[in-house]
Amino acid sequence: MTDGLYLNYIAGDWVEGTSEIANINPSDISEVVAHHALADANQANQAIDAAQAALSGWKNSNPQTRFDILDKIGRIIISRQEELGEILAREEGKTLAEAKGEAFRAGQFFQFYAAEAVRRTGEQNLSTRPNIDIEIVREPIGVTVLITPWNFPIAIPAWKIAPALAHGNTVVLKPSEITPTSAYYLTKIMEEAGLPAGVFNLLVAKGEDVGEALVSHPAVAGISFTGSVPTGRKIAQGAIQHMKKIQMEMGGKNPMVIMDDADLDIAIPVTVNGAFFQTGQRCTASSRVIVHEKIYDAFVERFVAEMESLSVGPALDPATQIGPVVSETQLKSNLSYVEIARNEGCEVVSGQHLAERNTGYFQRPGVFLNATNQMRTSREEIFGPVASIIKVGDFEEAVATANDTMFGLSSAICTSSLYYAREFKRQSEAGMAMVNLPTAGVDYHVPFGGRKNSSYGSREQGRAAIDFYTTTKTTYSFAG
Ligand code: NAD
Repeated sequence: MTDGLYLNYIAGDWVEGTSEIANINPSDISEVVAHHALADANQANQAIDAAQAALSGWKNSNPQTRFDILDKIGRIIISRQEELGEILAREEGKTLAEAKGEAFRAGQFFQFYAAEAVRRTGEQNLSTRPNIDIEIVREPIGVTVLITPWNFPIAIPAWKIAPALAHGNTVVLKPSEITPTSAYYLTKIMEEAGLPAGVFNLLVAKGEDVGEALVSHPAVAGISFTGSVPTGRKIAQGAIQHMKKIQMEMGGKNPMVIMDDADLDIAIPVTVNGAFFQTGQRCTASSRVIVHEKIYDAFVERFVAEMESLSVGPALDPATQIGPVVSETQLKSNLSYVEIARNEGCEVVSGQHLAERNTGYFQRPGVFLNATNQMRTSREEIFGPVASIIKVGDFEEAVATANDTMFGLSSAICTSSLYYAREFKRQSEAGMAMVNLPTAGVDYHVPFGGRKNSSYGSREQGRAAIDFYTTTKTTYSFAG
């Protein structure tokens, strides 16, 4: 696919970097998806300066202008979902069906937030003093820096860029250097849709090279980050030093509770999906399966059989259900956790590296049976196609186990009891709680995010995004 060097986009120009990086296809490591120019701190400052220079024009633009451009971006993405899905599958390794679905979702975000641009409202209040009117209006925060991970290379940039632009902010996007090609094509589409120069800037770079510039530049008003907890913590600390507004979406260790009254025809596919689809590389993946002892044996037998039947292979092969792991580093990390599970006393079923398929980073989905919630494999985010199965005695123990984690992104229960479903939704300490559905898989028009170490700051997606991308101004007028 590669065809010359893929450049960065600063102030409406395509610019060379100071070094280069090759984006390798994890299904076929002999294929370079693209060579990307890598920016340094100096270029990060230039991108922020460009966003600052474009801010006044964009924030004062007619909301209909913003609607038209965002809607056009969304329509172009949706019309090109096949091509974008293929690029995404090549660079990240999720299956073509999953990748096309992600590209389509990216288009939906732009269309949803196009309408949000014209829907912004304020409040009018009575004053406690005579003849004074109070209005509370929302204004854009200014220049926003958006830092995104490798696992959703088009949807996560889209769910941050679209509300940022809709509400009148300008943007510097720093996508993951592991999967920057989808963001490059997204940038091309934004240019084609007529976004004015400087309103959006693409900065493919290594975090350690540009991190300090991004958090310290005086023109940056806010940083929205999605990625791992350690990186999030580091960026948050730097950003707070410089009094930036922050929004952090981080890891998960999401529980899937299977009650003894669960319908296994629902529970099995739901759990297989949550644990293994997209190669388990979802922040909302079900990595702890908490099973009532009365149904444990029946559940495990069917779950393992279903898991073993999943076909692992190249992302673009239509028969593939589970694509490769994204990189060699991630594969080594996953395999080290398989060893840790064994050493901690779990019975490990599958989860092995498919060493004979050495054209890519293929790993079979696996489970850690007889796990306890105290084991490292139950407490640390692994981010691969593996899940721990933990046996519990009753509902109360199931809920306590589900909540006993430093994360709190998503949670789920499979049950046919209205009481358990209701109590689970009330007692779950996660930002999202599902009933008879996988922990992963959400709608685009409602809030997304978690609690504890999974999230920090206000929610993303839906109308909730307005809280990060705007700030309120309270005006008082004396009418005389
Ligand atoms: P990561 O933390 O390694 O990197 C995320 C981004 O931060 C990348 O763009 C990276 O280049 C950048 N970065 C790294 N160091 C930086 C620094 N010092 N300054 C500025 N930027 C820096 O995460 P990853 O491996 O790309 O993604 C996987 C993680 O993302 C998992 O923990 C997963 O749970 C999480 N995730 C969370 C959500 C969510 O919405 N909660 C969604 C998807 C992924």
